[in-house]
Amino acid sequence: MIDETLTMIPGPTPVHPRILAALARPTVSHVAPAFTRTFAQALADFRTLCESESGTPFVVAGSGTLAMEMALVNVVAPGQTVLVISHGYFGDRYAEIAAAFGIRCDVLRSEWGRAVPSAELAKKLASGSYAAVTITHVDTSTGTASPVEAYCALLKGRDEIVILDGVCGTGGIDEPFDRWGVDVLLTAAQKAIGAPPGLALCLFSERALQRRRSLPSVPAYYADILRWLPVMEDPARYYATPCVNEIVALGEALKIVHEEGLPARFARHARTARAMRAGLEALGLKLVTAPDCRADTLSVVFLPAGVDDAAFRKGVAARGVVIAGCLGPLARKAFRIGHMGNIGSAEVVSTLEAIEGSLRALGLEVAPGVAVGAAAGPLGAAETQKAHLVPG
Ligand code: PMP
Repeated sequence: MIDETLTMIPGPTPVHPRILAALARPTVSHVAPAFTRTFAQALADFRTLCESESGTPFVVAGSGTLAMEMALVNVVAPGQTVLVISHGYFGDRYAEIAAAFGIRCDVLRSEWGRAVPSAELAKKLASGSYAAVTITHVDTSTGTASPVEAYCALLKGRDEIVILDGVCGTGGIDEPFDRWGVDVLLTAAQKAIGAPPGLALCLFSERALQRRRSLPSVPAYYADILRWLPVMEDPARYYATPCVNEIVALGEALKIVHEEGLPARFARHARTARAMRAGLEALGLKLVTAPDCRADTLSVVFLPAGVDDAAFRKGVAARGVVIAGCLGPLARKAFRIGHMGNIGSAEVVSTLEAIEGSLRALGLEVAPGVAVGAAAGPLGAAETQKAHLVPG
């Protein structure tokens, strides 16, 4: 490896060597039978990851933001109104995307680090109706996991199309598409799925496809799902060249997801989050996110008083681990650690050691080993004995 730094930001996340090897396979024709079989399998494996029997998957070159755009413009026409439930920067991005397409927008916004109570959504829905409602499963700016199941229960039987942004959730936390009644789940390759960045993924329900078919046109060409549908039904068809290598890599990442098994994978994410937080709290650090809505995929942590963000993260990086700063009102006041995808106990331990070392170097009194000691309990014997997934 050229750079053996451990990347513990909330995406992109460390990529397993098996996935990197898949990415490096020779580029073949996008209609080569071996590739179209891999593509079809990746689409099926993505649907299985979303726990859906009948959703239609779409995988195209792009990032999560394209997936957000694709989800929205295919089910809401300009001039119609969408309700955005926002828990931070990425919820607010949905309001910006709506505005860019002339879609009207009503925003239900929480305080950063807290979740919008479902009673507030109930009140909103009692006083109006919308073409769609967008929910960010995990807002990566605040670490807030929304009560998606409760929101979906309120939306059952109504006409609003339910759009779920799973960019920081899919592959790390449970997202039962059919059971919850989600209409469009959107995500990206580079977070809890653990593949390299470069792919936008969506799953559309039959109801969402019907909604698209009911629109005479959409303000998109590349992102129009009806243009992509023939390809997704038969990857040997052509619409626009799929990014062959990234799709092969995604296929390998999804194979790893299903080899691990969804319940085991979600349990690992929960255990890793508990361990990371036990370690952080043992260092005297405070989490930004309220205890009742903390996501298992990342932690958002206040900097101790008087500690400079840049100097702190530079110290962590000097110890081999990259963590992220914060966005918006939390910038320079807090930092973010991603713990999702292909990571295990070794990565938790390395990250806590680096944070502890950086704090000590900045003059804070921290007892050596206190963070890792606190993490050991939640990690449990089985996890600490298991070889971690990413070497380095
Ligand atoms: N939604 C959420 C919840 C995200 O965390 C992000 C990216 N961090 C996005 C959307 C946008 O994804 P991308 O950066 O891949 O465009």
